[in-house]
Amino acid sequence: MRIWLDGELRDLESARVSVFDHGLTVGDGIFETVKAVHGKPFALTRHLDRLTRSARGLGLPDPDHDEVREACAAVLEANPMPLGRLRITYTGGHGPLGSDRGEHGPTLFAAVGETTRRPDVTAVITVPWTRNERGALTGLKTTSYAENVVALARAHQHGASEALFGNTVGQLCEGTGSNVFVVLDGEIHTPPVASGCLPGITRALAIEWTGARETDLPLDVLDRADEVFLTSTLRDVQAVHRVDDQELDGAPGPVTAKAMRIFDERAGQDLDP
Ligand code: PLP
Repeated sequence: MRIWLDGELRDLESARVSVFDHGLTVGDGIFETVKAVHGKPFALTRHLDRLTRSARGLGLPDPDHDEVREACAAVLEANPMPLGRLRITYTGGHGPLGSDRGEHGPTLFAAVGETTRRPDVTAVITVPWTRNERGALTGLKTTSYAENVVALARAHQHGASEALFGNTVGQLCEGTGSNVFVVLDGEIHTPPVASGCLPGITRALAIEWTGARETDLPLDVLDRADEVFLTSTLRDVQAVHRVDDQELDGAPGPVTAKAMRIFDERAGQDLDP
């Protein structure tokens, strides 16, 4: 595997960052996961824009989009695969132990791993932990993912592939790596960004392409939703057939199935929508 690190393509064995890199020691970093289909990234412009918003939120220098595009193209060319999970990571760089940033400037790396299409239907659980809709990092795609790792492990223990969080005021928020949509009386709703969720790229496309509304939703909307689906880069649109112990019979329901079709058609036509 060849990895882009700080301006050049390197073999995995020689791509090394400092043990004092702040991405590692204090989670001072941001990232993007981009789908790559036969070596071509999907929605890269939107991902780069979000990378810049995340960098600004953390006070990191703006990433150089030309360099990130070059990095992505280089790793995709060096590691051919049918469906890739391209990971762009940008950290505060190595610095002193503690939270103060050093003078060395950021670390940028890009890597790609092979992945497979997610199943069309999945089970989810809800977790008792909350997203903070008013935190300093809310809405930023930072490398501080430990809470998601814990919640996802709990989902796996319960035979589910995703865990959904509410926020501190009891509203539905998002999953560990996905946004959530519910269908009520034939209309599609998803929590607004103010709920504390990540502004997902797939979420934005699903809103544009299906007319889904952004609505404050209480967590217990999941008990009465006709259909529930998730969106994310590696899932696209994925129907939910079980929330905790409650089955949603017939998933994907008609509204979700239509969203899946729209997504397949449009995303297949335009790689940078
Ligand atoms: N929410 C969280 C916490 C995520 O980590 C992700 C993606 O990894 C998403 C939502 C979905 O975002 P996207 O559609 O940009 O992949």
